[in-house]
Amino acid sequence: TLFLDRIAAHNPTLNAFITVDRDGALEAARAADARIAAGQAGPLTGIPLAHKDVFCTEGLLTTCGSKMLSNFVSPYDAHAVALLKAAGAVTLGKTNMDEFAMGSSNENSHYGPVKNPWDTTRIPGGSSGGSAAAVAARLAPIATGTDTGGSVRQPACHTGITGIKPTYGVVSRYGMIAYASSLDQGGAFGASAADCAALLTAMAGFDERDSTSLDRPAEDYTRELAAPANDRPLAGLRIGLPREFFAEGMADDVRAAVDAALDEYRRLGATTVEVSLPNAKLAIPAYYVIAPAEASSNLSRFDGVRYGHRAAEYRDLAEMYAKSRAEGFGAEVKRRILVGTYVLSHGYYDAYYLQAQKLRRLIAQDFRAAFGECDVIAGPTSPTTAWAIGEKTDDPVQMYLSDIYTIAVNLAGLPGLSHPCGFGAGKLPVGLQLIGDYFGEARLLATAHQYQ
Ligand code: GLN
Repeated sequence: TLFLDRIAAHNPTLNAFITVDRDGALEAARAADARIAAGQAGPLTGIPLAHKDVFCTEGLLTTCGSKMLSNFVSPYDAHAVALLKAAGAVTLGKTNMDEFAMGSSNENSHYGPVKNPWDTTRIPGGSSGGSAAAVAARLAPIATGTDTGGSVRQPACHTGITGIKPTYGVVSRYGMIAYASSLDQGGAFGASAADCAALLTAMAGFDERDSTSLDRPAEDYTRELAAPANDRPLAGLRIGLPREFFAEGMADDVRAAVDAALDEYRRLGATTVEVSLPNAKLAIPAYYVIAPAEASSNLSRFDGVRYGHRAAEYRDLAEMYAKSRAEGFGAEVKRRILVGTYVLSHGYYDAYYLQAQKLRRLIAQDFRAAFGECDVIAGPTSPTTAWAIGEKTDDPVQMYLSDIYTIAVNLAGLPGLSHPCGFGAGKLPVGLQLIGDYFGEARLLATAHQYQ
């Protein structure tokens, strides 16, 4: 009950959880105890965890941060949820998030903003801000998240914890409510890289119900964590520093913390080389065509007929759709649906959507070239530390630009991790991002583990 008690004490302030399942958690904990007594425990048996409210959980509310799904109880578990249940992990509840995972600050949630545990006047990052705040405040030891454009790495950065988004296709999207299907990927939050490795190992795996799930043998992401017995455990590791990430835009306090972390990596035996990602600056414009395009299609299923919010009064079917959607979706979700339908519409498809897909290919080629010269890429996760609640809510473009370092990774489908690397002004956490080549998760986790 340690974590349930901490949730009861601190969630009223932090607003990290939308749903807490005290009875279910206690029942699962008793079942885990029995498994441990019977000698059938795995590494996560009896370990409490929180799920981002984008993951469907059988018998438990799944809102996706939206009024639209405020009454939705899924009849089935997401694949990642089912795997974690089978491993004996104990679900504490469902965490707050930006509505349909659209946002970078958790201010777009129908259930109110999440507060950053380091400074409750500041945002925790988003869209998986509830999961990140829960782990940072020790309301849960580990938590799941999803990352479409940075939503695991950026909140991990702003709350001073570790988060990893694996290669696209490693975690099944089955039962993970879709935002932008070609970018969405489940990920793991923990206090350390080792905790993330244990969680990712349990939630990853092939699933034939997701057509983009990769049919590969199961991996143990903890396998490279053991350190060689010397004081230069990272000897031979080449860390690429993208010229474009260090050129401008980074706040001074973030730069100082990132530079110090890179010194520490050199002390651990790694070498650093300059690499170039010339098209990375085009990631945000490409993303804000592709992601809304896919979202406008994915969110068409919320029509008030099959599940979710339905308007109380309407004259005919068309009005029922229109009113249900007008009432059920928040402003940012509506903005993205409008952008998405616009860029996909006749006459604009070639000019926007097709161009964005070409940029996406160029960005992936940049990474391919860079990984010819290095093993992992390092840089800041976010250009600033956590900003004040309300500071960017009137300026969506400023909000979008804060994801400058994370989005290219999703467009290329690569794995990325953020780990804490000290503090900036006002004792706010700074994160270092490590980007790996395809299926480089174990290497990323081991690299961060040596630093930690
Ligand atoms: N902040 C980005 C957006 O608003 C990314 C969100 C995410 O990764 N889910 O779309």
